[in-house]
Order: sequence, then C-alpha cells, then structure tokens
Amino acid sequence: MPSPLVTYLKATPPEKVSPALVSWIASLEQVAQVSPEIASSVIREFEAQRSHLKLIASENYSSLNVQAAMGNLLTDKYAEGYPNHRYYGGCENVDAVENAAAETAKKLFGADHAYVQPHSGCDANLVAYWAILSAKIEAPVMESLGETNPSLLSEAQWEDIRQKLGNQRLLGLDYYSGGHLTHGYRQNVSARMFRAYSYTVSRETGLLDYDAIEKQAMEVKPLVLMAGYSAYPRAVNFRRFKEIADKCGAVLMVDMAHFAGLVAGKVFTGDEDPVKWADVVTTTTHKTLRGPRGALILCKAPFADYVNKGCPLVLGGPLGNMIAAKAVALTEASQPSFRDYAHRVRDNARSLAAALQGEGLFVQSGGTDNHLLLVNVARTHGLTGRQGETAMFECGVTLNRNSLPFDENGAWWTSGLRIGTPAVTTLGMGEPEMKEIARIIKIILDGTKPSVTSKGEPARRKITLDPAAQGEAKKRVAALLGRFVLYPELDLQLLKREFLK
Ligand code: PLP
Repeated sequence: MPSPLVTYLKATPPEKVSPALVSWIASLEQVAQVSPEIASSVIREFEAQRSHLKLIASENYSSLNVQAAMGNLLTDKYAEGYPNHRYYGGCENVDAVENAAAETAKKLFGADHAYVQPHSGCDANLVAYWAILSAKIEAPVMESLGETNPSLLSEAQWEDIRQKLGNQRLLGLDYYSGGHLTHGYRQNVSARMFRAYSYTVSRETGLLDYDAIEKQAMEVKPLVLMAGYSAYPRAVNFRRFKEIADKCGAVLMVDMAHFAGLVAGKVFTGDEDPVKWADVVTTTTHKTLRGPRGALILCKAPFADYVNKGCPLVLGGPLGNMIAAKAVALTEASQPSFRDYAHRVRDNARSLAAALQGEGLFVQSGGTDNHLLLVNVARTHGLTGRQGETAMFECGVTLNRNSLPFDENGAWWTSGLRIGTPAVTTLGMGEPEMKEIARIIKIILDGTKPSVTSKGEPARRKITLDPAAQGEAKKRVAALLGRFVLYPELDLQLLKREFLK
C-alpha cells in the first residue's frame, strides 16, 4: 500500500508542493506508524481550527516553518545552565541555538539582554520574580557577609535571607481589571511568595489612572511594580510607570505576554514601548508574537546575571528544540511583513470595536488600542460571559469569557467576552471582514437567551439558542472561513482520508 505521503503527493498539483508541506505530512506519517490515535487527534484539531472562527485574543497560528523547527533531536540534549556556562558537557550546538534566539530577541526588541529558556509565560514570571529577589534582596546580604555561595552560609544566615525573601511586596494589576493570575492572585504562587497588592482601573473610565497608582505605590512601597495585562484593551504609558517605580523605589517589571507582537511590530513605540522603560520584561512567544508555545525574558544589564540563573532557580533543562522554534519565529517577526501584520492586528481590532458599537453592543472603555476588546454581554443581553462563550462556540466562533472591572458576575461566570484579532489577521482578514464578524456576533447574541432555573430565575450557564440565528451565524462563519483558509497548502480532505482512524 502506498504511504499517506505518496498518496497525498500524487493527488496534489506540483506547484502546490513545498518542503514545509512534505515535512509536515511526513512527520505525521511517522507519528501515525507508532500512535495512529495521536495522528488522528492532530488532524481533528486541524479540522476544528479550520472550521471555527478563532477570536481568542491569546491565540494565533504559527507558521509551518516554526512548527518544523520544533521537531528535531535538540530535544535529546541536556543543557542546564546558560550558553557557555552549562552543567553538562557537549552543549556547543545548544549554545549556538540559544545564542541565536537571544541575539535575535535582543535586536528585535532593542533589549540589553535576553533569556529564552522559559517554557511558558507563568515560568517566565516566576524566573523574573526570583531574579529580582536575588538581585535586590539576597545579593546585598551576601555581599555584606563577604560570601558568594549560599551553600556556605550558616543555618542562621540563610534563615535570615529566607525571611527577607519571603517578606517582600508586589503591586500589580487586579485580575478583574485585566491582570494575570501570576500578578498577585491569591490562588497563584505569586501571592504566596509576595505580600501582594493590586491596583485597579478607574470605575468611571475603565482606564488606568496613573496618579491613583502612584499614590498607592507610595503607600505600599512594593519591591516589584508590575505592569502588563491579559485583558486590558488600551495602550499603557510605561514611561509613567517607570517614574512611579523610581519614586517608590520599586523594580519595574512588565509582562507583555499579550502584546509582544505589537512591540516587535512597532505599533507600540516611545512611552508605550515597555522594553525601553522596564527593568525586566517577560513575554510568551505564542500569542501576538506568533511563535511556538513558550516564553522569554528581556532585561536591563544589571539584571542579566540573575535572569540567566533561571536554572537552577526555577527551571530544569532547557528545551533546545523549542528554543530553535523561538529563533525561527523571532526571525520571522524581524521581517518588514511582520510590522505590517502587527499594524493590521490593531487596525482590525479598532474596526471590530467600532463595528460592534455600530451593532449596539457595549465595548468596555469605548474601544481599543491593541489586539483585543471586551464586550459586556450582561449589560445588553442579560447573559453571563459563560453563556455568551457557549453560544459563540455552538455557532462556530471560539472566544473566551472574561471578567470585567468590578464584575458582579465574578471570575467564573463573568459579564464579558474577550475578543482578539491576532489569528483572523494572520488569515488575511481586514476591515470588511471585521464588519461581518461584528454582524455574526450580534446575530448570535440576539438569538441567545438564558435558560430559566427550577426557581424561575435566569440560569448562569444554560442557554436557549434560536435555531434560525444559529443557522444564519454558522452559514456566515463558513462563508468567511471559505475565503480565508487556515494553512491553505494543506488538503484537509486528503489528510482525513489518510490519517483518521
Ligand atoms: N502572562 C500573561 C499576561 C498572560 O496573559 C498569560 C497567559 O495567558 C501568561 C502570563 C501565562 O502564559 P502561559 O500560559 O504560557 O504560562
């Protein structure tokens, strides 16, 4: 029997065959030989992603080049430490890969130093927090004791340092105002290692109020002032944050996980460029940056030696294959076409916000300056965010619910939907398609009602979805995705025939 790759190639016109296509299918064929069910799941996920309109603000589509870079033998090598300073021998090639990724990141963002090992955004924040604690709390005590190796301290000396490390303050953006769990949420380790305080957006405007943040920072006197967000739709003035940090004696850390692509693509420059102002910047690589799932840290020179100690501080062996994929993605993000992409992401978000407002929906803070926007579905449709999310999914639209500032429906049910444009922009959509997406969202919301509980009250989870609205929305989603096809070089029907078991 001919192999799936051979069958696929026979059925495909030669001009549509590329190295990326051949390697993608060949890899899957190898996987299928060992684990057919895993290959099936990959194809099913491809089908799901191709048939749903992806509006999840934290997701994107990586290039086949990035995907190809992940699958190689670098995964077999242990390389604890950092380039030219490893706990294992024979790391020259991992050094070359890690140096290439770090140098590309430094150049792209204009940073003094880059550390590309963190496996995820949460890991990156943990490494950064401990690097700051090491630099600002541990190092001065060690210096006063005339010692460089903590293992050589007495029990009492080490206990004194541990107490100091555990008694520091973090001031970050409140979860309901768009902050991330790692910015001091009590369920997260960040609020367990720090005494965590949070600032909010203004109740009136929904915007950051820098004077109020300054006042609070002067009272709290945090070691770390954290800026950055998962769900804040506006530009941030990082110059102002740096002024506040300097005034209260804090280290300024920025988590740009969501908007790194807009920084790389020069949408955010000057006061809005966090790399210029912050001492330490963390980011994921898989959101607007459009790379593999992972993260990296950028910092000013005085923090470089501490950030480099992610291993042994928090991490174990780096993932050489994933670092290779980060290098490829960072190189792609250094091309002029990526600048164009990043600007289109923001233009699309603005067009979508305006179109949703035109449809009579309530857009939090009145619009957006970045890649995401928040819609209050409780206000206009009496739905929880959870119900809105479910209705969208049942009509072929993937997005996620999100709490809004001071949300009365809490963090689980929420009142909001978070909508992002990175993925649809990667597919090539522009302003006319944003108008169509706004229409689809309106049709779905108008066709959705909360179910009624046994007590006669509106349910927070269950919905009744009007079949006519659902049919119309699905038809429109299919038409849109028929014009903007995910990975058009891959023939889904052929892949299904060969791999679905
Ligand atoms: N920081 C921010 C601002 C995020 O939005 C996220 C994820 O959504 C993270 C950190 C965590 O990233 P990861 O899921 O890669 O750990």
